Amino acid sequence: MSNIVAIVGRPNVGKSTLYNRLTESRKAIVDDFSGVTRDRHYGVAEWIGRNFTVIDTGGYVANSDDVFEAAIREQVLIAIEEASVILFVVDVTTGITDLDDEIATMLRRSKKPVFVVVNKVDHGLLQSDATIFYSLGLGEIHNISSATGAGTGDLLDEVVKTFDEDVVEENTLPKYAIVGRPNVGKSSIINSLIGKDRNIVTPVAGTTRDSIHIHYNQYGHEFMLIDTAGMRKKTKVKENIEFYSVMRTIKALEEADVVILMLDAVEGLEAQDVAIFHLAEKNKKGVVVVVNKWDLIEKNNKTVKVFEETIRQKLAPFNDVPIVFTSVTEKQRVLKVLETAGKVYENRGKKIPTSKLNDVMLPIIENNPPPALKGKHIKIKYITQIKGTSPMFAFFCNLPQYIKEGYIRFLENKLRENFDFEGVPIQLFFRQK
Ligand code: GDP
Ligand code: GDP
Repeated sequence: MSNIVAIVGRPNVGKSTLYNRLTESRKAIVDDFSGVTRDRHYGVAEWIGRNFTVIDTGGYVANSDDVFEAAIREQVLIAIEEASVILFVVDVTTGITDLDDEIATMLRRSKKPVFVVVNKVDHGLLQSDATIFYSLGLGEIHNISSATGAGTGDLLDEVVKTFDEDVVEENTLPKYAIVGRPNVGKSSIINSLIGKDRNIVTPVAGTTRDSIHIHYNQYGHEFMLIDTAGMRKKTKVKENIEFYSVMRTIKALEEADVVILMLDAVEGLEAQDVAIFHLAEKNKKGVVVVVNKWDLIEKNNKTVKVFEETIRQKLAPFNDVPIVFTSVTEKQRVLKVLETAGKVYENRGKKIPTSKLNDVMLPIIENNPPPALKGKHIKIKYITQIKGTSPMFAFFCNLPQYIKEGYIRFLENKLRENFDFEGVPIQLFFRQK
């Protein structure tokens, strides 16, 4: 199930301002203590309890060159194919331009929900000017001011109504997605796993038309593999290759339980990989980092440690993740990847009995109580794990609002030390008792 909201429109209408507003709003709403690294063009947003990914298409075209308009047109087509909802941003101060008209023509053919978002309606006087955009032929218009935030709440109310219901599927197999930059070895590892032996794989019609699910059942491992590697489509405009692959990656990631993030050992972990990692973390997915092409690295007895440390530093603060060093071509540790993904999947579904949780955590808390604030003592009375698809813990205490970041981190580390949540983001909530 994926909810991807794509923001399209010509330059300068306010796409990135809107994007920033939508993705930043989440920080205010959600008690997100995990590392906040802003991915420039895509990020997670939340509105009335629904999570979705917002993608700012404008980030993917370089300004000022001839392919510019062609690139924008193609992006709209990709968004129509890949996104679940499209926000078509126009600018009330300029009215309808030729490019707006062209984009509208493409969007009218789309079967996806399209919202005409009239931006820069900073005050009521502009509302009547906005009515011109009805002539785009895309139905209702939504007046907003990205600068002040006015109207964005009403818009989001409508947007989330178009999402699929969050259904909890029962008795389903674990879903793994192998993601990573081009050429790291994603296709190779999938081929090496499924080989030519058609008996072990059954292609399953995906829940979304174009994601390929492979049912793997071999060597005691049974799971669904969400294949992004095999779905490379041609884009005419070079600039859009990244945009396209990002869309695909986000989709696979949102569907997966465990994300297998593959790197090329020679190139190491780059900003793009970190962005994907953070997206997985924010979506509360399990993560396994795979460093492939290990055969190409000259090694001594410290190499693994040095690699691990470098990677963990870049992933911090959530760096309690397994790292597997593979060589697909030399068939080294390919099955280890599956074992590790299976372990992470288990960790993500792990339920700690309340009594055990309290027996372990309360003495730790007693020895290391939260620092008093404004002369008030903070007392954590008990802890319980909340039901959910990923681990969440509620700490009941007298003054939840006084618990500080550093102490939350301390508690998270203690949970990790005592209960093994390797590869899994965990959430801590503090409630009044
Ligand atoms: P993009 O190229 O579509 O991503 O547009 P930007 O987000 O970069 O915005 C283009 C310009 O419009 C910037 O100078 C913004 O400050 C301005 N802008 C964006 N939203 C609003 C708004 O709601 N009202 C006003 N008055 N200006 C805005
Ligand atoms: P993808 O774009 O991520 O699907 O990457 P591919 O699976 O197409 O692999 C890209 C290139 O890397 C191919 O030439 C592979 O043969 C090569 N490759 C994949 N895995 C390894 C590996 O473990 N070691 C080495 N040396 N090359 C590899």
